[in-house]
Amino acid sequence: MSQSHFIDGQWVAGQSDHLVVAYDPCLAQPFAQLHSCSPAQVDQAVRAARQALPRWQGLNAARRATYLRGFAEQLKQRRDSLVALQMQNNGKPRHEASADVDDAVATFTYYAGLAEQLDARQNAEVALPAPGFRSHTRLEAIGVVGLIVPWNFPLVTSAWKLAPALAAGCTVVLKPSEVTPLIEQVFAEIAHEIGLPQGVLNIVGGGAETGVALSTHPGIDKLSFTGSNKTGSAVMHSAADYCRPLTLELGGKSAILVFDDCDLDQAVEWIIAGICWNAGQMCSATSRLLVQDSIAEPLLARLKNALEKLRVGNPLDDEVDMGPLSSEAQFSKVTACFELARSEGLHCLTGGYALQMPGWFVSPTVYTDVPLDSALWRQEIFGPVLCTHRFSSEAQAVELANDSQYGLVATVVSADLTRAERVAAALEVGHVWINSIQAVFVETSWGGSKGSGIGRELGPWGLSAYQSVKHVTRCLD
Ligand code: NAD
Repeated sequence: MSQSHFIDGQWVAGQSDHLVVAYDPCLAQPFAQLHSCSPAQVDQAVRAARQALPRWQGLNAARRATYLRGFAEQLKQRRDSLVALQMQNNGKPRHEASADVDDAVATFTYYAGLAEQLDARQNAEVALPAPGFRSHTRLEAIGVVGLIVPWNFPLVTSAWKLAPALAAGCTVVLKPSEVTPLIEQVFAEIAHEIGLPQGVLNIVGGGAETGVALSTHPGIDKLSFTGSNKTGSAVMHSAADYCRPLTLELGGKSAILVFDDCDLDQAVEWIIAGICWNAGQMCSATSRLLVQDSIAEPLLARLKNALEKLRVGNPLDDEVDMGPLSSEAQFSKVTACFELARSEGLHCLTGGYALQMPGWFVSPTVYTDVPLDSALWRQEIFGPVLCTHRFSSEAQAVELANDSQYGLVATVVSADLTRAERVAAALEVGHVWINSIQAVFVETSWGGSKGSGIGRELGPWGLSAYQSVKHVTRCLD
């Protein structure tokens, strides 16, 4: 993997001594490695993006939309290889890896549609109370943007940033995660294939040091970051040094609230989807189950039964429901939580161990009646580990759900839709699902309240995040 990065329209080799290694988590074996981009190469990428900016932002948005449609089309054509790579590098089951490709295609298609409407929305007249004045609104590209992403949904997270940024007329320097260093290369391949003007998209691979070089670079106009709160805080400090805008998509410890009027089997299905999809490595994992005490016993019995039937294994077997954790670091973190649970004397309903397999596999795990001050209840684990707690009233359920530093998402399960809507309104989060799996539509927003982040992605809000609003006002006299 020598020519692994994409700067100013050219494939280049990383010049840092630091190596980034892609592993197959089913085998705990490396299958590719590459040299990271050096800070000097990050500087080249930012300069290339700056140089490309005037021409790109000066194009009609409808013209930019043709490139976005090109990305969507080319992603579709590369579907099989993208699915295979995500299965190999992330350990995603085939249906999950396929869903990620579909999501990326939908994202580029959606923002192509918004870009096509942008020219007509440009220079919209503002109604003013003063007859002697006229004013109109310009929606301008914010400039050169740095995009830093994690490894859990690399294709999706990058598409959620890249598509609106390009639609708005921004030029981009994207830094993929060191855990999944290969998947975003597809965007460079496509850029080359569809003739995206050089410098509009730059991809600089590497680890934290490459991220630091990008987030502290003075030539960036905005940074959009998805990742952990620890890194988000560091990135926010560097944005503060330049007083420049920032979008942060951070962690979560989200709740699923299950009321006693629900269908128990259906509830179990949604609980499992909320904690076992992507082996629980989801910012939006509903890792805290709040269950009404009158149904706690039968619900937990069904949950245990269903989890013990879940097929965990290598995603090359299409029968598999859940794959491994994606990295050794994540495996160590989750198994350390099992140790902590043992030392805290938590009651383990099911799981709580690593599987006797060569890769980074763990069992789906449930701890019941977890004390509210336990680290397992409070901290994001990022694995298939569910903690439960009981409630007796709607008010208590809402209070328990909101008692968290995070506020990303929640799921409400109840046959009483009036109550479900009331609870949804009271929850301090960015997205609530009622009687649903975690269906994410590109038309709806994504982002968190409280410690889960700043700003929103997806929908028209995702586009606004890359636009700067300017008004031009003149006196008619
Ligand atoms: P991470 O913070 O370790 O890394 C994220 C990215 O930041 C990587 O590309 C990494 O190389 C880079 N980075 C690391 N140190 C940096 C620094 N000092 N300066 C700049 N960049 C740096 O996170 P991760 O382990 O890759 O991802 C898991 C986290 O991401 C979880 O907390 C999860 O909840 C969060 N996440 C949030 C969302 C969301 O939409 N809210 C989505 C996916 C993941």
